[in-house]
Amino acid sequence: MTERIDGHTLLISLIATPIRHSLSPTMHNEAFAKLGLDYAYMAFEVGNEELKDAVQGIRALGIRGSNVSMPNKQAIIPYLDELSPAAKLVGAVNTVTNKDGKGHLVGHVTDGTGAMRALKEEGVEVENQIITMTGAGGAGTAIAIQAALDGAKELRIFNINDQHYKNAEETVKKINENTECKATLTDLADQVSFKQSISESAIYIDATGVGMKPLQEESLINDPEVIRPDLVVFDVVYMPKETKLLKFAREHGAKKTINGLGMMLYQGAEAFKHFTGEDMPVDYIKELLF
Ligand code: NAD
Repeated sequence: MTERIDGHTLLISLIATPIRHSLSPTMHNEAFAKLGLDYAYMAFEVGNEELKDAVQGIRALGIRGSNVSMPNKQAIIPYLDELSPAAKLVGAVNTVTNKDGKGHLVGHVTDGTGAMRALKEEGVEVENQIITMTGAGGAGTAIAIQAALDGAKELRIFNINDQHYKNAEETVKKINENTECKATLTDLADQVSFKQSISESAIYIDATGVGMKPLQEESLINDPEVIRPDLVVFDVVYMPKETKLLKFAREHGAKKTINGLGMMLYQGAEAFKHFTGEDMPVDYIKELLF
């Protein structure tokens, strides 16, 4: 590091809380070093209270870009100058660019495209498919909207009746108004409809975080009859690598089970491209991190 960082080195930040567990600093710094790019990537513990000052700091210090994670993905929007069309539609930002350090901050969202690229890498196409999804928070919304933009035929979202339900209603409205995809929302408490929907779907996506600590012993699917040999099961969680859901689906013969590592890698690769204009060496990073 001391050999690499000098007076010319440009900074990229990550602002979120909690953040110390994140793989993003390792991923980006290893990619900078591999390509010989004069950037450094640092994580900063920033919540909603410090967010406005942090964004001013990005401008003042000429930080060239930033990743943004919970709880700042929506809260950062009022402080930015411009949003990409996808970020506008999703209503959330995970990547900010500051071209040439001049202070004009543009918000992008790469979670949805990252997830679609991860599915494609596994040979899974969303085009013309019926997809059942649980979860309509930050990750779920980005995935749902990108799947719809990429030509999914139907998106059937199931959400518990919590504070995210209203957001899910808005997501369904946006998809129906802006894309050819037919989107619906049903309360996850309606388990008969949930199981029926999966039985008609090619892909089931869990974007809830159930399966990750502290819910690592839980799964939203526990009925073996729901799992079919032609069903793809995708869980956005990557820690643990195999959630209870993915283990259950694999053991009951699902066509494919996919964890969130690929989504994490490709959302990062797309952010890297925004920051540096270069392609992340994804095979090298995969070997290091997976
Ligand atoms: P969020 O809090 O914005 O949304 C969570 C969603 O899950 C909401 O729709 C909520 O209603 C639903 N939910 C919560 N608890 C539930 C339960 N017990 N049963 C059913 N539904 C429940 O969170 P988020 O930012 O969208 O993150 C969700 C998960 O996605 C997290 O585990 C996060 O680590 C993961 N994630 C992964 C990547 C990746 O690159 N792989 C990227 C972003 C987020």
